[in-house]
Formats: sequence, structure tokens, C-alpha cells
Amino acid sequence: MSDLLSLRDVMRAFTAERDWERFHDPKSLLLALVGEVGELAELFQWLPAVEARDAAVGEPLHTRVGEEMADVLLYLVRLADVVEIDLGEAAARKMQLNAEKHRA
Ligand SMILES: [Mg+2]
Repeated sequence: MSDLLSLRDVMRAFTAERDWERFHDPKSLLLALVGEVGELAELFQWLPAVEARDAAVGEPLHTRVGEEMADVLLYLVRLADVVEIDLGEAAARKMQLNAEKHRA
């Protein structure tokens, strides 16, 4: 089983144990996902572009970036589950299309 499918199952169980399925319609999950992308963007918002990478690989930013990236991934995985998309398969297929479109 892929890491994404394992995460899907963990999120599915976490949601069911709390009876949160009723909140997890696609629109609500998408808004939550966008909110988490915003939290990630906020960490970089006022950093000069030339300093952003060095700041992000060092603490304390590194831990915060990892946390917000995890939030983004978890909501994306949950959204994919609700709309019955195999995220790993979809991403692999899209990379194949990208490679055909943008040949090296
Ligand atoms: Mg967050």
C-alpha cells in the first residue's frame, strides 16, 4: 500500500472516530485546504526571496513549514478520498502528461 493510501486510511479513521464526515463535503474540504495553503504562505510572506530557502531549512521556520505542509497534504488526501480519486495514480498520470507536453 502506498504512503498516500495509508494516509488516506488514517484520515478516514480519524474523521469517522469523531463523526466529522458530515463536515467533509468537497467544498468545505477545499476551503480548509486553501486556508492551510494560506498558513504556509504566511510563513514566507515577508521574507526576502533571496533569504527564503536558507530560512526554511533552518529553525524555527523549518518545523513550522513542515507542519503547514502536512496540513495541506492531509486535507488534499482527505478531499481526494471524498471525491474518490486515487491521488498517487492521478499524480503519476499527470506527470506523464507533463513529460509528453514538455519534452526535454
Ligand atoms: Mg495549519
